[in-house]
Amino acid sequence: MTQQTRYVIAVLPGDGIGQEVIAEAEKVLRAVAERFGWHVELRHGLVGAAAIDQTGRPLPDETLALCQSADAILLGAVGDPRYDDPRSRIRPEQALLALRKTFELFANLRPVWVHPALASASPLRPEIVQGTDCIVIRELTGGIYFGEPRVESDQRAVDTMIYHRNEVERIARIAFQAAQRRKRKVTSVDKANVLACSRLWRRVVDQVARDYPDVVLQHMLVDAAAMHLMRHPRDFDVILTENMFGDILSDEASVLAGSMGMLPSASLGEGRLGLFEPVHGSAPDIAGKGIANPLAAILSVAMLCRYSLRREREAKAIENAVGRVLEAGYRTADIAVPGQPVVTTQQMGDLVVGALSAQGSGT
Ligand code: NAD
Repeated sequence: MTQQTRYVIAVLPGDGIGQEVIAEAEKVLRAVAERFGWHVELRHGLVGAAAIDQTGRPLPDETLALCQSADAILLGAVGDPRYDDPRSRIRPEQALLALRKTFELFANLRPVWVHPALASASPLRPEIVQGTDCIVIRELTGGIYFGEPRVESDQRAVDTMIYHRNEVERIARIAFQAAQRRKRKVTSVDKANVLACSRLWRRVVDQVARDYPDVVLQHMLVDAAAMHLMRHPRDFDVILTENMFGDILSDEASVLAGSMGMLPSASLGEGRLGLFEPVHGSAPDIAGKGIANPLAAILSVAMLCRYSLRREREAKAIENAVGRVLEAGYRTADIAVPGQPVVTTQQMGDLVVGALSAQGSGT
């Protein structure tokens, strides 16, 4: 008897709709494992406000230990209006920073894919967004957000932006490797006409590019990139950028997809362990109503298969299943046009599981 491959996934649903969308993502993960013949063990942990309520801490030690023993982390969302005051000493969002820091997750990947059937869900014209398929790869642990902020007086404040060669090199490699699996183009975004950090960034990216001769490299200034993204989003494949520019550009790019409920993400480090989560938050305005779109969480499972389990076929099978459900006309409320019938969170999860099981083997 051959031994079945077995993976342990730390599942941290968190708060609000995090719990609802992760329940559907779990169904899809179990279904894909069953279909492709491997075993997955889902171990649940507390995170965010749910963890503060029960343990007093947003990321309890037990949750951290659970993540340490796992092949990947699947997270829903953290955040609760009760803790929204940024001056609060304990906040749910601290869990995310602690996870990134503990596991040195320095690369944030946010794909933006506009399914043809959803081109009209974007606030931009359908002919502009149609065919968009890009990924923003953002450096997550360096740059100005990790400098030395100083408020020197009520007249003067200072922030510092620092980048080291190795920080640029490792994120650039992730971008070039991602491009090799996609359309083989990297657009590196910086502000090299002004910032010293950007000039270092550009030099290092040029050097790394020599190891990937099959990938086309283009440099673009961040102001031009912000404009180009709204005018010609199809021109982009992999967008590689530093922390602050990535923060801004990834939110800008998310508009193309029409709803936060469609956007998955991955945070990766040097090893295989990654953190996978929908881009959206806990959405207290719709929590508990069963109407949240679970596709961002489900597409995060596809990323988990691709980047942590290194199972590309499974990742594609999930993405294809989502595509088929959308092509068949099923919509949650956030992506429906007025008058179109809508399905619930749970129904959408079931539809994706159904589409996954219906696909022929080897998809
Ligand atoms: P949000 O992403 O939770 O919601 C923004 C809007 O998008 C809301 O109108 C919401 O109903 C809608 N929306 C989001 N996800 C959806 C989905 N799957 N389906 C349908 N509609 C969806 O952002 P917010 O309201 O600014 O923040 C709410 C809480 O979430 C805050 O406490 C915030 O700190 C937290 N937050 C957490 C994360 C995270 O866990 N990574 C990210 C962003 C915000």
